[in-house]
Amino acid sequence: MVKWTVIQKQRLQELGASAKQLANSFNSEQERNSAYQKTERDLVDKGKEALLTYRQNIKKPALLDLESRLAQALISAGFAQVSTPILLSKGLLAKMTITEDKPLYKQVFWVDSSKCLRPMLAPNLYYILKDLLRLWPSPVSIFEIGPCFRKDTQGGNHLKEFTMLNLVEMGLPEKDRSNRLKELAELVMDAAGLKHYDLVTEISDVYGETIDITAGEIELGSAAMGPHVLDQQWDINVPWVGIGFGMERLVMVKEGYKNVQKAGRSLSYMHGIRLNI
Ligand code: ATP
Ligand code: MG
Repeated sequence: MVKWTVIQKQRLQELGASAKQLANSFNSEQERNSAYQKTERDLVDKGKEALLTYRQNIKKPALLDLESRLAQALISAGFAQVSTPILLSKGLLAKMTITEDKPLYKQVFWVDSSKCLRPMLAPNLYYILKDLLRLWPSPVSIFEIGPCFRKDTQGGNHLKEFTMLNLVEMGLPEKDRSNRLKELAELVMDAAGLKHYDLVTEISDVYGETIDITAGEIELGSAAMGPHVLDQQWDINVPWVGIGFGMERLVMVKEGYKNVQKAGRSLSYMHGIRLNI
């Protein structure tokens, strides 16, 4: 039996071939090569059609559409949206205990000796929460959706630039934390149109313990609770819950993409479709 060549398989994958198409085998190379030509042509036609549908009806990247739907859902649930700088100081990163000996430190993109591209939203949210806790009645519920950057090992689930949604509720009764976390995870998953997910307890480098929101093997988000040792850096000492979601991972799972690249900012893909067709 003859299988697709590596190059054929890669091209078919890019074009969004089904698992069944990718698993095909043939009696001879000749048979395989003519099947390849036909399959490739069909997938290219399908892609062109889907791109036209995008142009005529959809007109907005799934990522941005999800971003506005999630923002609306959270605002309706009483959260306030915030927008903080993408450039982060080394000092704020250190307050998250992300120092030179930590794995995440090696993934940071430095802009100069004292500034990096933020790998997460938490340091900025902590920074403003210490003031908001003083200025607003409790609980203080805020969220940010915005770009984050990490030199992550390239794989199907990692992008160097991705979009994080981080929501935090501070100053709620301690006994309500677990329930509130579940409620907020459900709110986000609902707005993202994802019905099937699990909550799994994991060990985290930064938070000690996190509760991950997963879909099959894929981590969609990580949640944490306070009081937490990190809080001392900001003189915060109230109970809190927070969750960070990867927006591209939510889109990837919703759309059934095998690769998160199709869901992210891209020069190669639009609406999950390769442009070189
Ligand atoms: P992973 O273990 O999958 O690398 P993580 O635990 O390091 O993720 P967190 O710091 O918990 O990631 O970030 C919160 C969420 O942001 C993750 O659950 C994931 O959905 C998303 N995320 C993190 N890193 C990336 C990345 N490089 N590309 C795309 N999404 C990411
Ligand atoms: Mg995590």
